[in-house]
Amino acid sequence: MVLQASRIETEAAETGHERDLFEVAVEQFEIAAEVLGLDDDMRRILGHCQKELTVNFPVEMDDGSVQVFTGHRVQHNSVPGPTKGGIRFHQDVTLAEVKALAMWMTWKCAVVGLPYGGAKGGVTVNPKLLSQNELQNLTRRYTTEISMMIGPNKDIPAPDVNTNPQIMAWLLDTYSMNVGYSVPGVVTGKPLVLGGSEGRSEATGRGCVYAIEEAARARGMDLTTSRTVVQGFGNAGSVAAWLMGEMGSPVVAISDSRGGVYNPTGLDLATVTAHKRRTGSVVGCKDAEPVSNDDLLTLPCEILIPAAMENQITGENAGEIRATVIAEAANGPTTPEADAILFDRGVFVLPDIFANAGGVTVSYFEWVQALQAFPWTEQEVNDRLRRIMSRAFLAVYETSERHGVHMRTAALVRAIARVAEFTRLRGIYP
Ligand code: GLU
Repeated sequence: MVLQASRIETEAAETGHERDLFEVAVEQFEIAAEVLGLDDDMRRILGHCQKELTVNFPVEMDDGSVQVFTGHRVQHNSVPGPTKGGIRFHQDVTLAEVKALAMWMTWKCAVVGLPYGGAKGGVTVNPKLLSQNELQNLTRRYTTEISMMIGPNKDIPAPDVNTNPQIMAWLLDTYSMNVGYSVPGVVTGKPLVLGGSEGRSEATGRGCVYAIEEAARARGMDLTTSRTVVQGFGNAGSVAAWLMGEMGSPVVAISDSRGGVYNPTGLDLATVTAHKRRTGSVVGCKDAEPVSNDDLLTLPCEILIPAAMENQITGENAGEIRATVIAEAANGPTTPEADAILFDRGVFVLPDIFANAGGVTVSYFEWVQALQAFPWTEQEVNDRLRRIMSRAFLAVYETSERHGVHMRTAALVRAIARVAEFTRLRGIYP
């Protein structure tokens, strides 16, 4: 396993070819497929995305000009059920990235046992440069462009990087206008009044903290004396930071896309949150020293929560990570080379497809509530989420011990075995 990852690194260095994110996802898949002894036919099927749509569409801007944006919707695998996955608006979105994220959604849903395959969408745009009106126009036109792929029993979008309940409300409305009636089950992460679920907006961060609690129990760690570092102060990172703080863990560093702040004795989260609300960033918050997003990763701490973008922990910096547990609230923050180094060094990684599965799990609850038109309480949502995260942790941990592999490969082994079994049972049509 370790050998395979370093071979990949050497090949990449020799050819001078920098792998795109989908190649990384396929490498992770191949490593797990090898442990599983998966046959070549199944590897070919599961190693591809079933459907990939790219759209170039015009949006009228506030100044009357027209801009053309590029977006994608990719469905990796629909064998387990309707496909599920968020939509991101980011200037660096590429088809390869969306394909990787779609594949990870398939594995994520399988790890926690949801009846979904994986999908993802994205538009290459910096939404922070758009007015609300332009953002709405872009969302509605993108929704229309991908509408032949989505639907409550087909493919169900949700929020991801830089998208939020308001954007999901526009998506719901656009889809509903096109079909002629309201379809609350077409999207999750909606505002509560439109059929969203209690606990959905906190679910990714909360699920990540439940995962950390399980890891701490299994490895005999006391979270009240464990220092936490969080990279990213968005939807997942801010909730994870607050919940770690509530458990007594000193949260010593936090960052956002502009930079970070550090206080070795623990940040005051209310002050950081108020500063971010006032200025748009955590940078410059009082009672803290500045730290860059790169340096933050190697600060002394016990728990590191990458909650921003992919490719943060790499072969370059994995040797310097000082955390004992890494909980991946972001998708794809760790490269396969880094995984091998961290495993050798005894750093315990809670992989994205498990650690951030709380978001899609509560999306599933939201979808069930929408289809039944019967809302649950926040307590019900959180209790069910905890049970699902605990069960998945124990299963993945047992698999990692049995095969002597790290938690990512163990989670992938379980997920791939499940999707492969569904595929075998259903057979190949025709
Ligand atoms: N975007 C989130 C993820 O990457 C949530 C997806 C969903 O709720 O469908 O897991």
